Amino acid sequence: MRWRDIDGDDAQDHGQPALFDGVDGAVVERRRGEGQFRGMEFLHVRTRTIINSLPARSRLPFRHTINAYRGCSHACSYCFARPSHEWLELDIDEGFERQVVVKVNAVERLAVELAPRRWAGEPIAMGTNTDPYQRCEVIYGLTRGLIEVLAAARNPFSVLTKSTLVVRDLELLADAARRTDVSVNLSIGTLDPDVWLATEPGTPHPKRRVEAIARLRQAGIPCGVLVAPVLPGLSDGADQLDAVVAACVEAGASSISGGQLVYLKPGTREVFLGHLARTHPHLVQRYQAWYPGTYAPADQRQRVRRLLDDSIRRRRGTQVEVRANRAPRRRPPTAAPRPPVPSSTQLRLGV
Ligand code: SF4
Repeated sequence: MRWRDIDGDDAQDHGQPALFDGVDGAVVERRRGEGQFRGMEFLHVRTRTIINSLPARSRLPFRHTINAYRGCSHACSYCFARPSHEWLELDIDEGFERQVVVKVNAVERLAVELAPRRWAGEPIAMGTNTDPYQRCEVIYGLTRGLIEVLAAARNPFSVLTKSTLVVRDLELLADAARRTDVSVNLSIGTLDPDVWLATEPGTPHPKRRVEAIARLRQAGIPCGVLVAPVLPGLSDGADQLDAVVAACVEAGASSISGGQLVYLKPGTREVFLGHLARTHPHLVQRYQAWYPGTYAPADQRQRVRRLLDDSIRRRRGTQVEVRANRAPRRRPPTAAPRPPVPSSTQLRLGV
């Protein structure tokens, strides 16, 4: 689940319409994946800016974002970021999953852009467009490097991911949470193994994501769950939603939010329906009826929100927090010395 507000403002990189047009730098290198990355290609670019600021009219719960990768090997069939690959003249189906654009200078750019005379310390959200802990983060370590820089600058930030790789950075995140406001959210739309495999084939099993929440919470890191997207006819049953809530309450999630039904904008819609025709052909006609446009019918959306709300009240006695990954409050700087900003040596190119 990536973000989009009700005015249709994706949390895309506004002002960066294409990576290959000179605005964001040209591809400086193409790397073919090897070993577990066989079949993938990594397009290295040197970005001119890494912090993206959304227009003031945006109703998203954050103003500034960082996306170090474009394309995502998690391969969710419903991913709203797919059409952004078309802007780059890349394929939005398998190409989106196998050709990942890597902003190799993301960490060094952030260190420059966070300089006190340039940046007022506003919160920054990661994971708003593509997953910061997708598989190639093992190779490039850009998200880890970005967190190091943000923590050193005591700049509030949030992370949204579907990956258990976030646990790799547990100590780093715990340290950052002692310095500034940090929030992590795991996106878990369902625990149903069949739905998971059919729609998010490149992601870790959702039960492993629940375990990741527990690990992060035990380390003192604020970590919630975003129960989204919910897929009509696949993961919108009361029992299915309640199972996610129950597991995440048990894991100690610091917030539970979501309940958004999947939205299918042009491009994503065609890819999703193509996948659905292979995995659940009996649902294709119903989806075509439910989605004449981008959004599911209002009554369905309200029903799912209510089901989730009821489940959370029952399990936890709290209100649904409508939006997860809410931008954290800025914490005033303390007198503690700032550790040196790490260099960009996190870049490992053993593809
Ligand atoms: S995990 Fe990756 S493929 Fe899945 S929705 Fe998020 S960005 Fe898209």
